[in-house]
Amino acid sequence: MSKSFFIDTTRCTGCRACQVACKQWHDLPGEATDNRGTFQNPPDLSFTTYKLVRMREQEKDGKLQWLFFPEQCRHCIDPPCLETADDEASIYKDEKTGAVIFTAETRNLDPEEIIESCPYNIPRQAQDGTLAKCDMCNDRVSNGLLPACVQTCPTGTMNFGDRDQMVDLAKQRLAQVGKKFPKASLVDPDEVNVIYLITEKPTDYYDYVMASAGTFGVTRQMALRKMVEPLRRAIRQFS
Ligand code: SF4
Ligand code: SF4
Ligand code: SF4
Repeated sequence: MSKSFFIDTTRCTGCRACQVACKQWHDLPGEATDNRGTFQNPPDLSFTTYKLVRMREQEKDGKLQWLFFPEQCRHCIDPPCLETADDEASIYKDEKTGAVIFTAETRNLDPEEIIESCPYNIPRQAQDGTLAKCDMCNDRVSNGLLPACVQTCPTGTMNFGDRDQMVDLAKQRLAQVGKKFPKASLVDPDEVNVIYLITEKPTDYYDYVMASAGTFGVTRQMALRKMVEPLRRAIRQFS
């Protein structure tokens, strides 16, 4: 059975320990921080930032409300990035854990197409076109350890385990917080292995919290591939 995360944003304090732990485990450099009128730093995911705690402030019932969204790749159950690449040397899925992995061979793909195919706007590219993102800490998970971000989170926001257990936990927490937060919901729980519990509208947190309608499933590249696949099969058969 694949593994899943349950990320309970109702418990998140925005401490960013997960963001730092991700960089430490992957030996990724820090990025220069900047005062842009927000505590969110760096401003976005990047080739060297796989985990980013997105932060927004909004007014609710006359009071300031913080919204924290610890973002990472969703490890989609049917990943559009993988299907678009159609090249296991570049993007593959570890069937044991469910991790979707990008390799150095992604430099040979069309980066724009892969980025466009992701309904959550996750992959980021280096100058040479190589793509990177969260790898589920698959090296740790395959050796019985928790992902670094989960191991580090001090509040119980980040949870990780067998998919069934995480889905049950997510449903249980949704039922618990429903009275206090009537707009609470789980984000795309049937599509992804990183299930978020949020309490406000997805767009209050960030534009790509939920897969935008129509982008999940068939991207332009995938549609083209499906159209030409019978021809490719015939060519393979007779060559
Ligand atoms: Fe691929 Fe994006 Fe899904 Fe991650 S979130 S597996 S990058 S399609
Ligand atoms: Fe980073 Fe690993 Fe957490 Fe992914 S699972 S965000 S790679 S620490
Ligand atoms: Fe939120 Fe936990 Fe990350 Fe701190 S470590 S920002 S509480 S998810």
